[in-house]
Amino acid sequence: MVEIKFVADVMVGKLARWLRVLGFDVVYSNVLDDDEIIRMAKSENRIILTRDNRLAARCRNSQYLFVESDAYKEQLQQVLGAFGLKDFNVFSRCLECNTPLQEVDKETVFERIPPFIYLTQNRFATCPTCKRVYWHGTHADEMLKRIQF
Ligand SMILES: [Zn+2]
Repeated sequence: MVEIKFVADVMVGKLARWLRVLGFDVVYSNVLDDDEIIRMAKSENRIILTRDNRLAARCRNSQYLFVESDAYKEQLQQVLGAFGLKDFNVFSRCLECNTPLQEVDKETVFERIPPFIYLTQNRFATCPTCKRVYWHGTHADEMLKRIQF
Protein backbone atom coordinates (compact mmCIF):
# COMPACT_ATOMS: atom_id res chain seq x y z
CA MET A 1 0.00 0.00 0.00
CA VAL A 2 1.39 3.37 -1.01
CA GLU A 3 1.31 5.69 1.94
CA ILE A 4 -0.80 8.75 1.29
CA LYS A 5 0.47 11.96 2.83
CA PHE A 6 -1.14 15.33 3.31
CA VAL A 7 -0.33 18.91 4.12
CA ALA A 8 -3.24 20.88 5.54
CA ASP A 9 -3.80 24.63 5.45
CA VAL A 10 -4.55 26.64 8.56
CA MET A 11 -8.33 26.50 8.00
CA VAL A 12 -8.61 22.73 8.39
CA GLY A 13 -6.68 22.10 11.61
CA LYS A 14 -9.37 19.96 13.18
CA LEU A 15 -9.53 17.79 10.07
CA ALA A 16 -5.74 17.41 10.25
CA ARG A 17 -5.97 16.14 13.85
CA TRP A 18 -8.65 13.64 12.96
CA LEU A 19 -6.63 12.29 10.06
CA ARG A 20 -3.76 11.84 12.52
CA VAL A 21 -6.10 9.96 14.89
CA LEU A 22 -6.66 7.52 12.03
CA GLY A 23 -2.90 7.24 11.50
CA PHE A 24 -2.37 9.40 8.42
CA ASP A 25 0.71 11.55 7.92
CA VAL A 26 -0.57 15.14 7.92
CA VAL A 27 1.68 18.18 8.15
CA TYR A 28 -0.21 21.01 9.73
CA SER A 29 0.97 24.14 11.45
CA ASN A 30 -0.60 27.53 11.92
CA VAL A 31 2.68 29.15 10.89
CA LEU A 32 2.96 27.51 7.45
CA ASP A 33 2.29 30.01 4.67
CA ASP A 34 0.95 29.17 1.21
CA ASP A 35 4.39 29.10 -0.40
CA GLU A 36 5.66 26.63 2.17
CA ILE A 37 2.56 24.44 1.77
CA ILE A 38 3.03 24.30 -2.00
CA ARG A 39 6.75 23.66 -1.70
CA MET A 40 6.21 20.88 0.82
CA ALA A 41 3.52 19.26 -1.32
CA LYS A 42 6.01 19.07 -4.20
CA SER A 43 9.12 18.04 -2.32
CA GLU A 44 7.45 15.47 -0.06
CA ASN A 45 4.75 14.34 -2.47
CA ARG A 46 1.90 15.45 -0.21
CA ILE A 47 -1.68 16.21 -1.14
CA ILE A 48 -2.79 19.70 -0.14
CA LEU A 49 -6.00 19.94 1.88
CA THR A 50 -7.38 23.45 1.75
CA ARG A 51 -10.49 25.56 2.24
CA ASP A 52 -8.77 28.62 0.86
CA ASN A 53 -9.78 29.60 -2.68
CA ARG A 54 -6.64 31.64 -3.19
CA LEU A 55 -4.42 28.73 -2.26
CA ALA A 56 -6.49 26.30 -4.35
CA ALA A 57 -6.08 28.61 -7.35
CA ARG A 58 -2.31 28.33 -6.98
CA CYS A 59 -2.38 24.53 -6.74
CA ARG A 60 -2.76 23.73 -10.42
CA ASN A 61 0.61 21.99 -10.50
CA SER A 62 0.12 20.22 -7.20
CA GLN A 63 -2.23 17.54 -6.03
CA TYR A 64 -4.88 19.08 -3.84
CA LEU A 65 -8.39 18.65 -2.51
CA PHE A 66 -10.66 21.61 -1.92
CA VAL A 67 -12.45 20.91 1.35
CA GLU A 68 -16.11 21.81 0.91
CA SER A 69 -17.60 21.76 4.37
CA ASP A 70 -17.05 23.80 7.51
CA ALA A 71 -17.82 20.80 9.73
CA TYR A 72 -14.96 18.44 10.52
CA LYS A 73 -17.05 15.26 10.27
CA GLU A 74 -18.11 16.11 6.73
CA GLN A 75 -14.56 17.17 5.92
CA LEU A 76 -13.26 13.84 7.11
CA GLN A 77 -15.88 11.97 5.11
CA GLN A 78 -14.96 13.98 2.02
CA VAL A 79 -11.25 13.19 2.35
CA LEU A 80 -11.78 9.49 3.09
CA GLY A 81 -14.22 9.21 0.20
CA ALA A 82 -12.12 11.18 -2.29
CA PHE A 83 -9.08 8.94 -1.80
CA GLY A 84 -10.92 5.70 -1.01
CA LEU A 85 -9.28 5.44 2.40
CA LYS A 86 -10.49 2.46 4.40
CA ASP A 87 -7.46 1.11 6.24
CA PHE A 88 -6.70 2.97 9.43
CA ASN A 89 -3.92 2.65 11.92
CA VAL A 90 -5.63 4.27 14.86
CA PHE A 91 -3.49 6.01 17.47
CA SER A 92 -0.21 5.34 15.72
CA ARG A 93 0.70 8.99 15.24
CA CYS A 94 1.13 11.95 17.58
CA LEU A 95 -1.90 14.26 17.34
CA GLU A 96 0.22 17.28 18.19
CA CYS A 97 3.30 16.90 16.00
CA ASN A 98 2.55 14.08 13.51
CA THR A 99 5.45 11.87 14.62
CA PRO A 100 4.84 8.08 14.54
CA LEU A 101 4.32 6.81 18.11
CA GLN A 102 6.41 4.14 19.80
CA GLU A 103 4.71 1.56 21.98
CA VAL A 104 6.23 1.42 25.45
CA ASP A 105 5.89 -0.65 28.63
CA LYS A 106 3.59 1.00 31.09
CA GLU A 107 6.26 1.04 33.80
CA THR A 108 8.29 3.46 31.70
CA VAL A 109 5.48 6.06 31.72
CA PHE A 110 4.44 5.51 35.35
CA GLU A 111 5.43 8.99 36.50
CA ARG A 112 3.90 10.78 33.55
CA ILE A 113 0.30 9.58 33.65
CA PRO A 114 -2.57 9.87 36.12
CA PRO A 115 -2.76 6.91 38.58
CA PHE A 116 -6.24 5.96 37.40
CA ILE A 117 -5.02 5.62 33.84
CA TYR A 118 -2.03 3.59 34.97
CA LEU A 119 -4.30 1.19 36.83
CA THR A 120 -6.93 0.79 34.14
CA GLN A 121 -5.01 0.86 30.85
CA ASN A 122 -2.40 -1.49 29.44
CA ARG A 123 -1.30 -0.19 26.08
CA PHE A 124 0.81 2.95 26.04
CA ALA A 125 2.79 4.78 23.41
CA THR A 126 4.97 7.84 23.49
CA CYS A 127 5.91 10.45 20.94
CA PRO A 128 9.70 10.49 20.40
CA THR A 129 9.55 14.15 19.38
CA CYS A 130 7.32 15.95 21.89
CA LYS A 131 7.30 13.20 24.58
CA ARG A 132 3.53 13.11 24.99
CA VAL A 133 2.07 9.85 26.30
CA TYR A 134 -0.90 8.18 24.62
CA TRP A 135 -2.96 5.24 25.70
CA HIS A 136 -5.62 3.08 24.12
CA GLY A 137 -8.75 3.26 26.16
CA THR A 138 -11.90 5.14 26.76
CA HIS A 139 -10.49 8.35 25.30
CA ALA A 140 -9.68 6.66 22.00
CA ASP A 141 -12.99 4.84 21.92
CA GLU A 142 -14.96 7.99 22.55
CA MET A 143 -13.09 9.93 19.90
CA LEU A 144 -13.73 7.19 17.37
CA LYS A 145 -17.39 6.93 18.27
CA ARG A 146 -17.79 10.58 17.49
CA ILE A 147 -16.79 10.09 13.89
CA GLN A 148 -18.94 6.98 13.33
CA PHE A 149 -17.91 5.23 10.15
ZN1 LIG B 1 4.48 14.57 19.35
